[in-house]
Amino acid sequence: MHNTTWLEFSPLALRHNLGVVRRLAPDAAILAMLKANGYGHGAEWVAKQLAPRAQGLAVARLNEAEQLRQYYAGRLLLLGNLLDTELLQRCADLQLDLVIHDVASAQLLAATALPRPLCVWLKLNVGMNRLGMTAEEFGRAHRLLQHHPHISGLHHMSHFSDAEDIDRAETERQIGRLNTTSEALGLVPRSMANSAAVIAHPASHGDWVRPGIMLYGDDPTASLQGDLALQPVMNFKSRVVALRTLEDGDGVGYNRRWRASGRRRLATVAAGYADGYPRHAPDGTPVLVNGQRASIAGRVSMDLLTVDVSELGVVQPGDEVTLWGAGLPAAEVGRHCGTISYELFTRVTDRVKRYYPDESA
Ligand SMILES: *Cc1c(COP(=O)(O)O)cnc(C)c1O
Repeated sequence: MHNTTWLEFSPLALRHNLGVVRRLAPDAAILAMLKANGYGHGAEWVAKQLAPRAQGLAVARLNEAEQLRQYYAGRLLLLGNLLDTELLQRCADLQLDLVIHDVASAQLLAATALPRPLCVWLKLNVGMNRLGMTAEEFGRAHRLLQHHPHISGLHHMSHFSDAEDIDRAETERQIGRLNTTSEALGLVPRSMANSAAVIAHPASHGDWVRPGIMLYGDDPTASLQGDLALQPVMNFKSRVVALRTLEDGDGVGYNRRWRASGRRRLATVAAGYADGYPRHAPDGTPVLVNGQRASIAGRVSMDLLTVDVSELGVVQPGDEVTLWGAGLPAAEVGRHCGTISYELFTRVTDRVKRYYPDESA
């Protein structure tokens, strides 16, 4: 029996979610986003599950790519970075694809002798204003690298700032910007769509889609239903370690933030902010105890949190608690805590044991 806090991952859910991407974007290749340790799900495990079904993977840091290369031989893209000759050499050694997001990087690449040519993804800034070139710079970088001997392949890419917005107009403008700039330079494979655009903007699918969060079971548009509904891959679980009855006016936890009105039943759960549960979770944040909804009562501490279980049936020490996962979407917990599933997933700490059940049968 797992006796404290643990993560349980569902390979079936992961594969189902990839299948949803496949159905929504049947004509595009899939570049699965595995940055930040597969959004906290374990990059090695995610890569092994997805490798036979996705056409490539992408990460944000060289050390992530180095680690993944030990078990993944397919197309592996390193996202926008500060480039120097050492990094270019390393990319060539590891046969990584590389995002070129400014003209200086394109020039450096053109001037650097490499053991083998690199496949490059040129990035156009379409409105996010973090990385990427203007249309004019993009054209220059394209012409410099297009037939250059250091380049084995070229893609055109951009990244949306507002794809999950109900108001579609800005994303449509951003789609137009990449298409117009790219078309003027010739027939080059295009990539724009993150998860929200995979779901809500079919016109953005192009040649490569780049889903991240939807693979892990969160639908940023909150619109997929039925067979297409996504399934949570990460289940963050813990157990009740103590129970007590409080009388009217009694407080719970540090500074007794929460006070009982009337007689209440409180459960103490073996999870805290040192496990990655947000410390700023307010009273009322939902958790599941034995699969039933209850809510946080009192400040989350380092190793423990407290839950009002007065409305539930019998609760005993050892009972299972779901902090997020099947039955309680991380996005919903995030809404209470002023954050998003992405942040919750990537902040679960190392002391939390990971379980990867074999559901391959
Ligand atoms: C993280 C990332 C994505 C995936 O975004 P999701 O919202 O998780 O689908 C796509 N493209 C780029 C460049 C990214 O950095």
